[in-house]
Amino acid sequence: MSECRFFIPGPTWVRPEILGEMTKPMMGHRSAEFRDLFTRIVAGLKPLFGTTQDAFVATCSGTGLLEAALINTATRRVLVTVCGAFSERWFAIAGSLGLEADKIEVPWGQAIDPDDLANHLASRRGHYDTVCITHNETSTGVTNDVAALARVVRNESPDTLVLVDAVSSLGGIEVRFDDWGLDVCVASVQKGLALPPGIAVAAVSERALACAKKVPYRGVYFDFLAYKKHADDGSVPSTPSLPHFYALARQLDDMAKETLETRYARHRAMRAAVIERTSPYAKLAADPEHASNTVSALQPLHATPDAIRSEMKKRGFTLGGGYGQWKETTFRIGHMGDMTLDDIQNMLEVLGAIS
Ligand code: PLP
Repeated sequence: MSECRFFIPGPTWVRPEILGEMTKPMMGHRSAEFRDLFTRIVAGLKPLFGTTQDAFVATCSGTGLLEAALINTATRRVLVTVCGAFSERWFAIAGSLGLEADKIEVPWGQAIDPDDLANHLASRRGHYDTVCITHNETSTGVTNDVAALARVVRNESPDTLVLVDAVSSLGGIEVRFDDWGLDVCVASVQKGLALPPGIAVAAVSERALACAKKVPYRGVYFDFLAYKKHADDGSVPSTPSLPHFYALARQLDDMAKETLETRYARHRAMRAAVIERTSPYAKLAADPEHASNTVSALQPLHATPDAIRSEMKKRGFTLGGGYGQWKETTFRIGHMGDMTLDDIQNMLEVLGAIS
């Protein structure tokens, strides 16, 4: 068991070894040492995303790269699949960029139905530049079937790009960028990768880069073509957060040692423990068929979410609050990153006693 007592759905608890990496000396980001570090990071990111295409690292939170995904691939219309507060964010970003955005939406707690997406796209072939999907909806604890949804887009509207928010799934739930035919997939590092917040990562397809070439105004900071040019040279377009790069390189090495299969199995086991052991006193708010391996939103049966969280806080454990329209009725347990099944069991023991 580790020293983890922190169970919000991001940022997650960070191992001391990772924090230690962040105190290493500075280096120039055009130096040979940086090129080595960057090359190591890209080599670790590609299997994590399941891609042989490009992987970029940007100094910003996940939202920055979500915005970048749209800036670089969409000039007209986008379709957003909405199943909670974070998937709604794609819609807000699209609107703020002046894009015409439509949405298909399901009630909170449910996953996007591939048939709904197919029906919506069937009569709109070529209408949308992109379809935006959220892999793991952190506000509700629902995981969407990205493989099925991306397949629908490919079948119904083959020229439409598929953009995926994997902010709270990457590192805890498998992503298969190439097999699923994705075009941009974005993640923050403070969730499944268990680093302090501050950088974000993305896989970007050749198709997305070809598309970016046709977008006349891509801005400077988030221009994917600049990222590509510098990545080919072992660097990034502007000064990166070097402490995070050190930490990411170490974390990717450690994840490869754990093996991705073992890591995903650990996340599945943590989810199962949370659902099973809270069931006498809390209802899982998400459709159990799509329950997330990294976060659970729970509706307590006998106490208020606030009371539960504050009792846990007194005992040294931090749990997440409800989010958006579920703020008053749920609390959330983040079970992602580097925490162990024992950490979760230890927390659930105490939670069971006060619930
Ligand atoms: N998308 C999802 C699914 C999230 O859970 C979050 C944050 O919790 C975001 C996007 C925003 O990410 P960031 O805070 O790294 O910008």
